[in-house]
Amino acid sequence: MAARRRRGKKKKPLKRWLSLGLLALLVAFSGLITAGEHYGWPLPRWSEIETALGINDAPTVATDSPTAIYFIDVGQANATLIRQGEEYALIDAGEIGEGDRLVEYLKAAGVTRLRCVVMTHPHSDHIGGMPEVLAAFPVDEFLLPDFSLLDQTPSSDILAKTLAALETQKQNGCKVETAARGMKIPIGEGELRVLLAGIETDNANNLSVCTKFVAGGFSCLFTGDGEKKVEEELLAVEPDLRADVFLAAHHGSRTSNSEEFLAAVRPGTVVISCGMDNSYGHPHAEVVDRFEALGAAVYRTDQQGSIQLTVDTDGAVTVTCAREGEVS
Ligand SMILES: [Zn+2]
Repeated sequence: MAARRRRGKKKKPLKRWLSLGLLALLVAFSGLITAGEHYGWPLPRWSEIETALGINDAPTVATDSPTAIYFIDVGQANATLIRQGEEYALIDAGEIGEGDRLVEYLKAAGVTRLRCVVMTHPHSDHIGGMPEVLAAFPVDEFLLPDFSLLDQTPSSDILAKTLAALETQKQNGCKVETAARGMKIPIGEGELRVLLAGIETDNANNLSVCTKFVAGGFSCLFTGDGEKKVEEELLAVEPDLRADVFLAAHHGSRTSNSEEFLAAVRPGTVVISCGMDNSYGHPHAEVVDRFEALGAAVYRTDQQGSIQLTVDTDGAVTVTCAREGEVS
């Protein structure tokens, strides 16, 4: 019987040389990047390449834990997803240009609808991806900062786009409200409490809506980019600032995270959301020292990618990082 010849088995020499050439290029590129990391050459790092390709960042969904918090790596920006039971809340939405990647992350985390979205304040590193998020998911309730506290009406393209997307959400039944101290929004069996809706200011950071998510005995505090004056106001009005987890204020800046404030929060875990080699120098070293002096475990999105935190029924907190990395 004649042997059947498989089609395409014999490679043409040109194709073979092209494949070998491509392989050699990949090996050389990989060596160059690795050497660049070792010697500090001005080349992108592996982690940056992975982040750009979006391959290191998918959430590992822990559906068996009743509560999960995802501090999503959005570079020098903030975006935090809270899940309790089967309901989700989003606080801030990253920088302009990150919206599509953020939406993909949220979908991978299981989001089909958002119970609540909070805009802490109208800077682009907090609302940059908001138009895409609002176009992708139905939202039940949206909290805006109290713009009347700012000495001038904020305006930017990204804010205008966000407010336009909110109009569509409103027509579809979304409740759009200005945040006010005392509001409580149920998220599954937990709730998101508004502790402060900013202070009168000429600095939009200080408009930051400050919230505490509470579920069972677990709590997590978010103060946006609120600076020292916001922290002083929180200390004056809120008797219970204690929280298990704290999203470092203002990306770990020394303009926030004051010692007095941290002494009242006493977090066991602190997550810093900031961009790799950002031009602000965030987080500031003395602030990281303050967190560590409190005995808190510190995580950083610039060094470890997205940080996922799950809380079991007995209150035990487990932290999973997208990338392994030494926190410094
Ligand atoms: Zn910010």
